[in-house]
Amino acid sequence: MGWAYNLLSYKLSPILFNRIRKTMTSIKYDSFYRYDDLTELLHDFATEYPNLITLESIGKSYQGRDIWVATLTNADTGKADEKPAVWVDGNIHSVEVTASHSCLHFIQTLVNGYENDERITHALNTRAFYICPRINPDGAEAALSDNPKRVRSSMRPYPHDDEPISGLEQDDIDGDGRVLYMRIKDPSGPWKPHPDAPALLVPRAPDDYKGTFYHLYKEGQSFETDNAMLKSGRPKEGLDLNRNFPANFEPEGAQMGAGPAPFSEPETRAVGDFFLTHKNIFIAIAGHTFSGVLLRPGSSVPDEDLPVQDLQAYKAMGKRGQELSGYPAISVYRDFRYHPKEDIRGSFNWVYDHLGIFTWVIEYWAPHRAAGLNVENYSEWFFEHSQDDALKLYEYFEKELPGKGYVDWYEFDHPKLGKVELGGWDIGNTIHNPPFHLLEKELAPFPEWFIYLALISPKLELHKAEIEALGGDSYLLTMIIENAGYLPTCGSPIARDHKITRDIVVEIDLPDGAKLIQGLPWEEKGHLEGRVGMMPSPIFVGTGFDPRDGAVSRIKCQWIVQAAKGTTVTLSAHQERSGRVEASLACE
Ligand SMILES: [Zn+2]
Repeated sequence: MGWAYNLLSYKLSPILFNRIRKTMTSIKYDSFYRYDDLTELLHDFATEYPNLITLESIGKSYQGRDIWVATLTNADTGKADEKPAVWVDGNIHSVEVTASHSCLHFIQTLVNGYENDERITHALNTRAFYICPRINPDGAEAALSDNPKRVRSSMRPYPHDDEPISGLEQDDIDGDGRVLYMRIKDPSGPWKPHPDAPALLVPRAPDDYKGTFYHLYKEGQSFETDNAMLKSGRPKEGLDLNRNFPANFEPEGAQMGAGPAPFSEPETRAVGDFFLTHKNIFIAIAGHTFSGVLLRPGSSVPDEDLPVQDLQAYKAMGKRGQELSGYPAISVYRDFRYHPKEDIRGSFNWVYDHLGIFTWVIEYWAPHRAAGLNVENYSEWFFEHSQDDALKLYEYFEKELPGKGYVDWYEFDHPKLGKVELGGWDIGNTIHNPPFHLLEKELAPFPEWFIYLALISPKLELHKAEIEALGGDSYLLTMIIENAGYLPTCGSPIARDHKITRDIVVEIDLPDGAKLIQGLPWEEKGHLEGRVGMMPSPIFVGTGFDPRDGAVSRIKCQWIVQAAKGTTVTLSAHQERSGRVEASLACE
C-alpha cells in the first residue's frame, strides 16, 4: 500500500492528506483491547506504515501468546539498531491495562506526527523506539475477559498448583461481568458504613463497640461453607513478574511473587533477552498504574549513591515529565515504598542497576488527584487514609460513574455461603484504570515526554571528514567525530563501568590495492562526554572551577594511505548507544 500513500501525499495538501490518513488505523478509547484485537491493531499499524513500523514477537507467554514489540523508526535514514533507542512498555501487571493503551496512543502519535510534526519527524529519523504494549498478555486477557479474573501478573500457578482448599477465591460469582466485593455482617467485622454514605465501607475505629460491622472479601468462590471461619485466599496464580528480574532478586520467602529464580518466567526472559541483544537502548520506560507519579532510581539506594551525572540527568528528565504531565517525579527509594524498611526486590530497575540504562516507571492515573485530594505520600495513602478522604473519592466517582464505579450492595444467594451482599468498588475502571471518558486525556501528555527522552540520547555526529593529497599516491585522511547529545556516549557511566556498552569504534575501510601506511584499520577510542554534568551557571566559566569547562567533546582520527587515483576510502565511527557515522572520500 506504500505507493498509494506516496501518490496521495504527492497530490494532496498535507491537511487533506492527514484527514484521509486519520480514517485509517486508529485506536479506540471506549474500551481496552483484548489480546486478539491488540494483535490485529498492531499488524494493521505495521501494514499501513511499512517504512516506520516493524512488528515482531519477542517470545511466547506461559499460555502461548506472542509478546509483541513494535519497532518505530524511519527505515530510510538507517537501521533501528544503528540508532539510539528508547524502550516503552506496559502491562507487566495484568490489570494495569492503561499502560498498554499508552503504548498504543504513543504509536498513534508517532505515525500521525511523522512529516507533520518537526520534533516527531526528527526523532523518527534519528532514533528508534521499541514499544511493547503488553509484556503479560495472559494476565491482561484474564482481567479483560467476560468473566474477569484479576491476578497480579502471569497465569502460571505459583508457588503451588493445588486447587485452593481454604479461603475465598476471587471470581465473578453472579456472572454479571464484574468482580466486586462481598460483605458479610458480623459483630467482630473490621468494617462499618460511613456515617454520611452508608454504602461506603470504612475501617471501624479502635474504640467502636456499637453498630453494624462487616467482614469484607473479594467476590468469589469458596470451598468453605461456614461463614464464621471464612478468610480471603491468595490467588493460585501468585507470581509478580516485576519481582522476577535479577537485580536484588530475593526468593519467595523474602519477596512475595518473585518466582523460583531470576528470569524463571517466559515473559521476563523474553524482555531480558531483548535488552541483552539490543545494545542501542539507552533509556527504558515501564508503564504501570496507578498513583500518577513518575518513578526513578535509586530503587534500593539513596540519591547520594547514584553517579552524580545520572542524578543530574534524572532531575532534568523528571522536571520535564512533571511539567508536561503534572505527575510528580520522585525517587522510588525515598518516596515510593510500601514499607519504610522494605525496598522492592527483583524489579525492572534491573536495567538501570546492571545495564546502566536509564529507567522510569510511570504509574498512570491518580484517582485521588482526580477527586481533588492532596496526597503527600502515595503508597502510604492507599493503605491508610481518613474517612473524609474515602468519602471524597466515593463522591467523585458517584459523579463520574453514577452507581457504577461504586456499586451499592445487593443481596446474593451464594452457592456455598448462603445469603451475602455483593457491591463496593468496581476497581477496574475507577482505581486501577481511569473511566473510559477520561482515558485519552490522561495519556495525552506522555508522547511529548517520550520524544524529549529520546532526544537527550548520546548521538555521534561527523564534525569533519577530509582528504589531502600528500604527493605521489599518498593521502592524509582526517575525521573528527563528536557527541552532539546531552548524555555521554555510554549513556550512564554504570554501563561503561560494568563493561555493558563498548567504546566508540573507529574504522577505515580500504578497497583492494589500497594500503594503510599510518594509523590502525580498527580502533577503540573510549567515550565522549555529553552536556550533562557541565557547570550549569555561566558565572563560573573560565575560572578553572569545572575541569570540563571549555573542553570539546570530539575525537580526531588520522590515517595515511597509499592508493591509486579515483579510489574511494570509507571512514566510520560507531558506538552502540550513540549511533553510527560514515564518510566516503575519493583520492584525487
Ligand atoms: Zn504495576
